[in-house]
Amino acid sequence: MTTPPAAGPNGTSPDWAADPPTAPFANGSYTGLHSSGQQSFGQPDTGTGRPGRRRRRAGSLRLVWVYPDLLSTYGDRGNLLVLKRRARLRGIEVECIEVNADEQIPRSGDIYLLGGGEDLPQILAARRLQADGGLTEVAARGGVIFAVCAGYQLVGTEFGGAEGEPVAGLGLIDISSGRGERRGVGEIVADVDPELGVPQLTGFENHQGMTRIGPGARPLARVSIGVGNGDGTEGAYAGRILGTYLHGPALVRNPGLADLLLTWAAGPLPPLPAESEDWARQLRSERLAAVLAG
Ligand code: GLN
Repeated sequence: MTTPPAAGPNGTSPDWAADPPTAPFANGSYTGLHSSGQQSFGQPDTGTGRPGRRRRRAGSLRLVWVYPDLLSTYGDRGNLLVLKRRARLRGIEVECIEVNADEQIPRSGDIYLLGGGEDLPQILAARRLQADGGLTEVAARGGVIFAVCAGYQLVGTEFGGAEGEPVAGLGLIDISSGRGERRGVGEIVADVDPELGVPQLTGFENHQGMTRIGPGARPLARVSIGVGNGDGTEGAYAGRILGTYLHGPALVRNPGLADLLLTWAAGPLPPLPAESEDWARQLRSERLAAVLAG
């Protein structure tokens, strides 16, 4: 069992030396992988033709992909695949659950993934998630939530709608977003908060939104190339909620970030054998070399 970043609001400046914050809206302790045997979650059949009740596998790590029908741009599904693979390579059994916007969010997953989205699907996703309430429960019990771009914005308190109008977010982490003057599009490179022990991030960004980090959260990284939050920082985290503007997909390009999330959910993990890391290492160095050359 690992301890997520601990308490202590640190202001809005990306001061890596300051105390890491709590998840201000996410108290509660994690109780480990599920081993409670066969249980069910979800709603009875909703009449949509999709199974409403599913069986839970004992002892498995449950990855919940939230609203792939609304939030999944630029290959963000790769985040799910990488978590699955890196867990399985460590002998952890994995169950992947895809939850469309007409389905209830399962309350008992281990890692919840949200991807990027266009403006209108993003607003719809925020409304449905508010009505569902599941992610709020997950955050309150300290579940792991990894949110990319539109997903990142909507786990905050507010984001900018299609015309720049403020739209209420889920308020799971102390960030708020509005629409910037220009779109941030292109490659991004950023140095991660040393507290997290994750190597330099590489990714692709495409967003109009700019994000302000409140005192209850902390920037994930400092931008060296690209836009990120728009103030020289990139992404945010508090407790076991972590958001980023990075596509790429982020966890494919940054396996260290994938391992951080797995560690939050499953406890300390052994390193992978070098040969299992070859492709990831090659992709990272190719992307970084291309960006630095450009
Ligand atoms: N619609 C949001 C924005 O433009 C998010 C975009 C995205 O997820 N790529 O900021």
